[in-house]
Amino acid sequence: MKAYQVIENGKPLEERELEKPQPKGKEVLLRTVACGVCHSDVHLHDGYFDLGGGVQLPSPLPGGEPLTMGHEIFGEVVEVGDEVDGIVIGQKYVAYPWMGCGDCDLCHDDMTHYCANNSNLGIHVAGGYGDHVLVPDPKYLFDAGDTPDSLAGSYACRGLTAYSALKKAGPYNKDNSLVIVSAGGLGLLALKIAKAAYGINPIVVDIDDEKLGMARQLGASATVNSSEEGAAEKIMELTEGGARSIVDFVGAESSVNFGYNLLARGGSYVVVGLFGGQLTLPLPMQALTEKKLMGSYVGPLGDMKELMELVVQGKIDPVDVETRDVSEANRTLEEMKAGKLMGLVALTHDS
Ligand SMILES: [Zn+2]
Ligand SMILES: [Zn+2]
Repeated sequence: MKAYQVIENGKPLEERELEKPQPKGKEVLLRTVACGVCHSDVHLHDGYFDLGGGVQLPSPLPGGEPLTMGHEIFGEVVEVGDEVDGIVIGQKYVAYPWMGCGDCDLCHDDMTHYCANNSNLGIHVAGGYGDHVLVPDPKYLFDAGDTPDSLAGSYACRGLTAYSALKKAGPYNKDNSLVIVSAGGLGLLALKIAKAAYGINPIVVDIDDEKLGMARQLGASATVNSSEEGAAEKIMELTEGGARSIVDFVGAESSVNFGYNLLARGGSYVVVGLFGGQLTLPLPMQALTEKKLMGSYVGPLGDMKELMELVVQGKIDPVDVETRDVSEANRTLEEMKAGKLMGLVALTHDS
């Protein structure tokens, strides 16, 4: 099999010929149909995540070994281990990539994504920048219904991230009870999921009027440009005195400091974006207002299941994805790093 691998952090990926894995026991071997390129691939490739303020979170190559990245995997089953039931050869699936050790309390409680000994596909073990991917158990595979091949894999990262964050910030009972910060790709996806999963039309906040126009087209109940005078007052008015739930896909010092003060008593603020910075809070107010500040990072297998049910039912409008041959992985990562990629890109292994 062929794979594009990170041999050394920051250096171009290299095409390598590798031995095709042989599935044993519960393992399933997928032929990669398409694999989304995610922004975290840029950081994995660089070898660190920039947390802002000069702080870096290292993400070295696991064991210093070459890594086949790619965690937004959509693949076709080509071979299964002898303990696998109910998986049809030739059928295509999205692979849930957030694997744990399978042995600790977190893994037993469906929180494999918190496991200290992760073996995430495309992050710790080989992923979809290779033309075949070994999945340890069929329970990690999900049907994607009529979703275009190039888009399906992105539900395992972007889709799951948006879905799980919304779930934490709920419950929702009416329009305007939710404020989504960011009208970028993830924010607009969250807007669609809020409509599909909860039947509500949220308020969307951004600093870009063009993106806010897109949010209105997709069904935002109202949009607010937070860089304009009176933005905070406008949100207080729309939410009738404060938001029950705010999900922040920017996660910048400016967005959290702006948004946290707009929460109603008992409201929830979920930080998803990794832009960086700090928040200083007066602690007595925290007690008196019972506000909740939470983080959200990808999501558990149970959330993936719920999300993929919505996807299969066709409740989430698909977005366009550009497909590129995997040999263009380096160009794609460079463009993403330089902020030149507007939409989603998925890599294919046809040639
Ligand atoms: Zn990702
Ligand atoms: Zn574990």
